[in-house]
Parts: sequence; structure tokens; C-alpha cells
Amino acid sequence: MSLDQIFAARTQRMKASEIRELLKLLDRPGILSFAGGIPDPELFPTRAFAGAMAEVMDHDGRAALQYSVSEGYLPLRRWIAGHMARLGIACDADQVLITSGSQQALDYLGKLFLSPGDTALVTAPTYLGALGAFNPYEPRYDRLEPRANRAPQDIAQAARAAGSEVKFAYLSADFANPTGETLDQAGREAVLDMAEALDCAVIEDGAYQALRYRGREVPTLLALELARKGDLDACRTIYTGSFSKTLSPGLRVGWVVAARPVIRQLVLMKQASDLHSPSFNQMAVHAVAQSRFDDHVAMLRRVYGRRCEAMLEALGRHMPAGVRWTRPDGGMFVWLTLPQANASDLLAHALAQYDLAFVPGRAFFADGSGDDTLRLSFSCAGEALIDEGMARLGAAIRDLAGGAGGGA
Ligand code: PMP
Repeated sequence: MSLDQIFAARTQRMKASEIRELLKLLDRPGILSFAGGIPDPELFPTRAFAGAMAEVMDHDGRAALQYSVSEGYLPLRRWIAGHMARLGIACDADQVLITSGSQQALDYLGKLFLSPGDTALVTAPTYLGALGAFNPYEPRYDRLEPRANRAPQDIAQAARAAGSEVKFAYLSADFANPTGETLDQAGREAVLDMAEALDCAVIEDGAYQALRYRGREVPTLLALELARKGDLDACRTIYTGSFSKTLSPGLRVGWVVAARPVIRQLVLMKQASDLHSPSFNQMAVHAVAQSRFDDHVAMLRRVYGRRCEAMLEALGRHMPAGVRWTRPDGGMFVWLTLPQANASDLLAHALAQYDLAFVPGRAFFADGSGDDTLRLSFSCAGEALIDEGMARLGAAIRDLAGGAGGGA
């Protein structure tokens, strides 16, 4: 007998991420890749972290190297409470939990709400990593369609018919991964109404919230719910945030803001899982956030905003008729819908003939649809390369449409 025969049932829902597998292939020199969804390392505040880390070691080295409390480093939780206040969310430090990246928060929230067969509402497409975090808890998925006004009773009835109960709706309202789209205020209010009717939680993933390049900020779902109820402890929205897209993903510092009973239960999960987030990292992030968060984010918004614009212009120049794409106001992604081609076939052709990579969209759909979609990231590419890349993509799409296998 081999051990994989006695793995728990939940492991059957844990598949290797197509994106991670794909990224392994992209080390090949000369590949022009729009596949990764990672921040540009050239833009990391390395000098600020060098100074902050030396300072932390010199002045607070023992605490930085020691175990710490599960809730997280208090000065950082206070800084986050201040940051959330600027987003219209008045909260206390004890309504903030620090996690090892916001990915850990998604895992805990799956653990908190989902018994096998419970329903999680997710957009189609949704963040692949959220599906990866929820899948081990063996949920049933149904579609969250904030713009389609699906009647809550229909959602509840479909769940009941499957012997299930709706536990939460998960969404990224600002510059979603993978579409780059933003949900308008009416759509956010509609999600809150739906959650009230279904009596379920809302998980608002704010991973890209700070990276807006144009247009006016839309209040977060948590801010809108707080405006309705006046008390965060009465809110059903749980906000997950992250320093990964603003300061550094490598330090793995994220957070959750929620009602105290939710935070208290998540703290128990933190204790069971890894005791606490890294002390040194939290202290360094606190020092850098305090001294230069706004300036650094303003720089990121300028640079990524130019790249986003360059990609949208290049798509306009190079895409054949019938290809549609989103026009993001922020974040890192543009989402394409092809007139007929299969995006996995297109990727194989683009890699072989044009040294070009992107992510086929299918992995982002809980129901396995989306064959005609793909995700492009503009975060790591210079503007000239973006034009070259979109020219190659246009040529690859034309090849497949014409049934040709040739290329540049
Ligand atoms: N949410 C979204 C939408 C993401 O794209 C990511 C990372 N790609 C995360 C959460 C997790 O990021 P982290 O754990 O680094 O905070």
C-alpha cells in the first residue's frame, strides 16, 4: 500500500496550480511573459527595508527574534487600523489580525465557515488562490453575479436542493485578479443586500485596493456596511488586506479586519496553524509603512498606471477584430475574451512560435468554463516590451483563427 491511498478525502480537491506549473517553464531566456501576477522587484523599497531592518535589530532585536502574540505586532495593528480609517472603516486594533500574507487569511476563512458540502459564492472568474484555499474544506460553489441581480431566494433554493447552505460570498471588488475589473457602488450594495437576505458572510479581498491608477475610489463593502450599521462588530463583511502588492510579498504580511467574534476565532486558528506571524517581518513592515507607505504607493501607481495604459493602447493597435478586453482602473491585470480560439491551444502556439506567455483563463473558473479567456499581467513589463508582446499575441491569435501554424 502506498501512503497516497490513505490521504484524507480533502486532498482530492487539492490540485497543483496550473499557474505555478506554468511559471516553472518560463525561466527560459527570451520568453516575453505576461503570465506572472507579481509585483515588479525593481520597485521594491529595498533601501528602506535595509535601514528599517538594521534599526529593528539594533533597538528591538530580542523582541524581533522572539515568539510573539498570535494577534500580531500591536504597533502594526494600530497602523492598519489607521489605514482602514482612511478607507472609511473605523476599527480598533483588536478588530485586526495579522496573517502570513492574505492567502493565510483565505485559508482560515475557509476553515472557519466551510463544512464539506457548504456553499461558497464566488465570481466567475475568481482568484485562483481563493479556490485553492477553499477547496480543501470541500465546498460546493455557486456563482456570485453582482451585476446580474440573481434573486437570493434562487441561490438559497439551489443550495437547499443540493443539501447545502450558503456560508459566504467571496469577491475582490477593486481591480480583481484575474479580470482587473472594479465593482461599482450599486453592485457592492447589491452584494450586501444579498448577504443580508441569505444571512451569510461576505469576504472582501482587498489585495489590490491601494493600486488605483484612474477614476474615483469606490467605498469598500465593509465601509458601506459599516455606514449602514454603525458598528463593526455587527458587520458580516470580513476584509482581507495585504502588504504584498504595495511593499513586499516576500515578507508575508497580510491582515484581516472583522467583527471581534470573528477575529477571536481566527486567532485560535492562527495559534493552531503557526502560532503567530513573523515578529521581525511585522516590525520591519511597520517601520517602512509608517515612514513611507503613501510616497511608495504613489510611485507604484504612477509606474504601473503607465504600464496599464501602454497595454490597453497596444491591445487597441494589435488585436484582431472580435477580441474583447477589460479596461482596469488599477491592479495588475487585463482580461481577454477571444472570439473562438481555445486559450490553452493559443498558449501552446504562442510559446512555441512567439516566445510569448500568458495565463489561460480556465483555471480561474470554479465550474471549469472560460476556455476562451486569458489573463495578461502588465506589472513587470516595460512599455516597449508591452507593445512587442501584444503584437506577438495578435499574430498568434490570427494564426489560430486562420488555421495556420506559422509564426515569427
Ligand atoms: N488575493 C488576491 C486577489 C491575490 O491576487 C493574491 C496574490 N496573488 C492574494 C490574495 C494573496 O496574496 P498574499 O498572500 O501575498 O497577501
